[in-house]
Amino acid sequence: MITENLSRINATLGEGVRLVAVSKTKPVEDIREAYAAGQRIFGENYATELRDKHAVLPEDIQWHFIGHVQSKQLKYYIDFVSMIHGVDSVEHLMDIEHAAAKAGRVVNCLLQFHIAQEETKFGFTLDDEIFNSRFSPLDYPHVRICGVMGMATNTPDRDLIRREFRTLRDYRDQLAERYFSGHPEFCELSMGMSHDYDIAMEEGSTLVRVGSAIFGARNYSQVTNH
Ligand SMILES: *Cc1c(COP(=O)(O)O)cnc(C)c1O
Repeated sequence: MITENLSRINATLGEGVRLVAVSKTKPVEDIREAYAAGQRIFGENYATELRDKHAVLPEDIQWHFIGHVQSKQLKYYIDFVSMIHGVDSVEHLMDIEHAAAKAGRVVNCLLQFHIAQEETKFGFTLDDEIFNSRFSPLDYPHVRICGVMGMATNTPDRDLIRREFRTLRDYRDQLAERYFSGHPEFCELSMGMSHDYDIAMEEGSTLVRVGSAIFGARNYSQVTNH
């Protein structure tokens, strides 16, 4: 089914949209099947699970960490991760800067914004202290800030989801203008999951993070490390 799901989803991807196949909790065999079907970008939420999968799967996979960043766990993936989506505090930005410098890398990151109505979703807001007039991407030479990431409210109200995605796009555009002139890499808009990636693409998403629509429903009781 994975191969069929992928080809169905790939057929609907807009121009300039990349698919992050979210494989958290799924076995490596499932990732191998998606890989054989041509998928190269995979998203994982749990640091040690990401470390373990990276160790046994093909080298040319681009691993995106889409979970909540925990500074102590950066060591498990900082050496190889292609992009970290969920950077949601200055502390994390500084901790990633230090870890990346130590690893001798420049690591791609996205700033996570709070756009949903739920209280529980992590993220910056535009009036956070970090976005004062002194903010500069040059303060983090081992972090390449490539754009923003967000999650819409988990709701059947598709108009609400659309408004939240528009808000996120607006944040990206405002930040690009304020702080990232001369930084064309600040362009990514990571939004859209299995149930809302169609809306996200209509609103300008460049990275959709799709899990269950590719791999089927997740069974959390099978994993122990989160
Ligand atoms: C799990 C997860 C996804 C994928 O969710 P699906 O509904 O299975 O597509 C996308 N983004 C983040 C941040 C996630 O944690």
